[in-house]
Amino acid sequence: MIRIYNTLTQQKEEFRPIEPGKVRMYVCGMTVYDYCHLGHARVLVAFDVVTRYLRHRGYDVNYVRNITDIDDKILRRADENGESYTELTDRMIKAMHEDEARLGVLSPTEEPRATAFISEIVAMIQTLITGGHAYAADNGDVYFAVDSFDGYGKLSKKKLEDLLAGARVDVQEAKRSPADFALWKSAKAGEVSWPSPWGDGRPGWHIECSAMSTCCLGDTFDIHGGGPDLLFPHHENEIAQSECATGHTFVNTWMHAGAIRVNKEKMSKSLGNFFTIREIMEKYPAEVVRYFLVSSHYRSQVDYSEENLAEAGRTLTRLYHALRGIVPAKAADVQVSEHDERFAEAMDDDFNTAGAIAVLHAVANEINQHRRDGREEDAKYSAAILVRLGGVLGLLQQDPEAFFQADTGSELSADDIEALIQARADARKGRDFAEADRIRNDLADKGIILDDSREGTTWRRA
Ligand SMILES: [Zn+2]
Repeated sequence: MIRIYNTLTQQKEEFRPIEPGKVRMYVCGMTVYDYCHLGHARVLVAFDVVTRYLRHRGYDVNYVRNITDIDDKILRRADENGESYTELTDRMIKAMHEDEARLGVLSPTEEPRATAFISEIVAMIQTLITGGHAYAADNGDVYFAVDSFDGYGKLSKKKLEDLLAGARVDVQEAKRSPADFALWKSAKAGEVSWPSPWGDGRPGWHIECSAMSTCCLGDTFDIHGGGPDLLFPHHENEIAQSECATGHTFVNTWMHAGAIRVNKEKMSKSLGNFFTIREIMEKYPAEVVRYFLVSSHYRSQVDYSEENLAEAGRTLTRLYHALRGIVPAKAADVQVSEHDERFAEAMDDDFNTAGAIAVLHAVANEINQHRRDGREEDAKYSAAILVRLGGVLGLLQQDPEAFFQADTGSELSADDIEALIQARADARKGRDFAEADRIRNDLADKGIILDDSREGTTWRRA
């Protein structure tokens, strides 16, 4: 039985999907006005691991992750760039898909975009108005009336009276109470807009997710996830909208990833410690970044630093070293082992990836021991287990040589290195050992390590 920590009840609960064998999961995706940053990478990888593990345990997972492709930040950035908002969002969606692929994040089953759901969003707002949960202001905005929903604050454990204390309504806004939030925003002159019963405008951010999730997954679904900053107000508002519109429980299990810090500080542009995923993947192989993220529990706070990334690189290298030069046994020939059971025990406990990775290292140690003992077949068998379990975490699926040779901005290409290795072999053949050593040392200075064996010379990046 899988146990998941539910933010709503603040405890680990046995996971029982609504429909046996099937999981319906929604995760709030990116607002596509810029490249994905490290915090996005954490959420992407965390729910990728959840999806992979649930599938590994035999569930049919319908994973929906939306794209917010219209909002203030998008319009502002497009304006600054002198491009249309769709040119900007198309470019950023393409970049996001590239980043995901490099991080080994599987595509969600469905990836709905807000602008493709305007009529569903308008219909939901209409339902809320009819039910007395929302009101149209004179300026064409529509607001959700927070005091119309008794359950407001149940996710974030905030009390409405505390939210109202000291809050004031901006004179620009037409809402009745400071805690009310916009469902529909009337268009300013020249802005992109869609027609609605309240005039031309565009949807608020919160209503998008309520409309898209219920359209794709039904009124009630199993898991809703997102980053830690979305818990309030975004997810609280989603619950209010959806439960008032449908009259049903919105979500059974709420999952939130932990925060990411950079050198023990909050990551922010003003502190100059803000990194996009692509900046980080220029310095470190993508799989090392993924390993770094997966090696901590998804709810824990993670600290990004050069030191921690270097450590992730070293430990992942140990796993690949165990696989180097071995052709794993055929997957079909490999039974469920004690390692599989220990791995499942860790992952069943609220996706304890740190415990699961400890199992991978135990398997790697076993492979190394088999090799030392000359038991090649046993080593191949254990290698197949390591690759199988690594795959559940989205790790260890590369050819070890490709991992060792991954280029992260070094001055030497693989072709350059192969040519130098050939030159060194020629020098040795001609008994010019001084030249052969010079080439070897020269490569070492550039971070290329040569490993000689009977089969020839292989190389890896340090
Ligand atoms: Zn959302």
